[in-house]
Amino acid sequence: MWPTGSLGSVMFDALGDRILAMIHYTHAHDLSYPPPNGTVLLLSCMDPRLLDDTVEFMNHDNLENRYDHVVLAGAALGALGGCLKKYEHWRKCFFDHLGAACELHRIEDVYILEHRHCGAYHKVFKVAPEFGDSQEQLEEEAACHRKYAQLLEDEIEAWAKKAKRKLRVRSFLMDLRGTVSLLTDGWK
Ligand SMILES: [Zn+2]
Repeated sequence: MWPTGSLGSVMFDALGDRILAMIHYTHAHDLSYPPPNGTVLLLSCMDPRLLDDTVEFMNHDNLENRYDHVVLAGAALGALGGCLKKYEHWRKCFFDHLGAACELHRIEDVYILEHRHCGAYHKVFKVAPEFGDSQEQLEEEAACHRKYAQLLEDEIEAWAKKAKRKLRVRSFLMDLRGTVSLLTDGWK
C-alpha cells in the first residue's frame, strides 16, 4: 500500500523519482570490451547535459566509486590544450592530474569520454563547425573526435612509458541521450 498524507506524498514523489531514474538509466551502450579490473581515470567534458549520464555509464562498467574524474571542456581536445599555445597549460593540468591519480590510486585504465554536439569543439577551440544530425554529419563528427582522442591516447602512452607505468587507454563517444559507443579501442 502506498503511504498517504503529506509525508507519504513526499515519500511517493521520492520513490517515483527513483523509479524514473532507473528507467532513464537503461542506455543500450554499443560496447564490447573486457571491463577494467582496477581503478580508472576518466576524462570527460564539463557539459551539464551529460553529468548524470556520465555517472550512469561508469556504473554500467561496474566502476561505481572506482574512478578519478578529470573534467576539461572538450575532453581529449581540452587535454591537448586545444592544440593551441593559448591553452597549452591545460595539457600540463591534465598530465599532472594523471600523475597524481596514478600515485594515489594506482590507475590501470584511462577512459576518454567525448560527446556529440560539444560546444568546446566549435566555440572554444574552433577546430570544427557545429555538426548536424544527418548520417554524414554524424560520421564526420565521430571522425573529428576520434582524431583528437587518438592524439591524446598517443601522448598518454608516451607519458606512461616515460613514467614506467602500464596504462590502457580507451576512448568513447556519448550522444545527447547518454548512449555511448567505442571511439577507439586501446588494447594494443
Ligand atoms: Zn563538451
